[in-house]
Amino acid sequence: MEQKRVLITGAAGFLGSHLCDRFIADGYHVIGMDNLITGRIENIEHLFPLKNFEFYNHDVTKFIHVPGKLDYILHFASPASPIDYLKIPIQTLKVGSLGIHNCLGLARVKKARVLIASTSEVYGDPEVHPQTEDYWGHVNPIGPRGVYDEAKRFQEALTMAYHTYHGLETRIVRIFNTYGPRMRLNDGRVLPAFIGQALRGEDLTVFGDGSQTRSFCYVDDLVEGIVRLLHSDYPEPVNIGNPDEITIGDFAEEIIALTGTNQKVIYTELPVNDPKQRQPDITRAKTILGWEAQVTRQEGLKITYDYFKGLSKEELYKKEHNNFEDYIN
Ligand code: UDP
Repeated sequence: MEQKRVLITGAAGFLGSHLCDRFIADGYHVIGMDNLITGRIENIEHLFPLKNFEFYNHDVTKFIHVPGKLDYILHFASPASPIDYLKIPIQTLKVGSLGIHNCLGLARVKKARVLIASTSEVYGDPEVHPQTEDYWGHVNPIGPRGVYDEAKRFQEALTMAYHTYHGLETRIVRIFNTYGPRMRLNDGRVLPAFIGQALRGEDLTVFGDGSQTRSFCYVDDLVEGIVRLLHSDYPEPVNIGNPDEITIGDFAEEIIALTGTNQKVIYTELPVNDPKQRQPDITRAKTILGWEAQVTRQEGLKITYDYFKGLSKEELYKKEHNNFEDYIN
């Protein structure tokens, strides 16, 4: 059988790099694309010697040219953590609008199936709990998180329009909080923030009173859900996440117990529009994809902590410093 070819945008990012690994392992020819603003070449360096892997250092908001056939396009390029998209808000809006437009145009030419990375942020600070896919969300378009949330909402709208009007095969995954090896320690998200603080012997910063909730999914579970969705025939959005919900205050205590450190928890200001609760309703994923998370938080956190603990000083430094301080939107 002819080898399938997949383009993965955001290939050097946390999720993109794990997807590259998975598709390589499944026997695909993988074309990774990234402009390395928030992505890290270290995440995919191990793939460079493989003949089934190619890397394009390219900004997907500019015209995308890929020679040869493409069977699938996975659009995962985007800053994805609150402090990142607050630093590069316009780039965030562009990658979720111009970037996906280029991907969809490319998909039409190549007759490829497109899967886009959407997010639980389309639900904003939700008024229904847990969140089902038919909830339309509660988003402040002009709030600080609006640049990400609205870009992702637009991305879904444009993808659906291409599906409806051009008959393009499209898939939409709404990703809830995900964690695992290769996250950047300074990306601002709660798990790398806490682990970084524990490793440096600093107190853990809980924003607000710590009563806000999140539900954390281990990256391998997420990747499995994405692969199943890609191969399904389902064009509507599907939540992929682990419904095991925890308050951020309790999560900080879990990290302290895991790391065996004696860190204190300090409480600081809650960011504007920080969602109070978040938990996926995964009925759709269970019914349509036969998917649910397999890795418990305890198992996943241990793997992730061991990964960070095993990094050299130089690798840790890279994980704590940004590439994009001087990036012009
Ligand atoms: N948070 C925290 N301390 C930190 C970083 C984050 O208490 O050092 C909180 C944050 O306010 C939010 C939750 O942890 O309520 C998850 O934040 P994250 O940035 O990981 O993702 P979000 O789900 O908000 O996009």
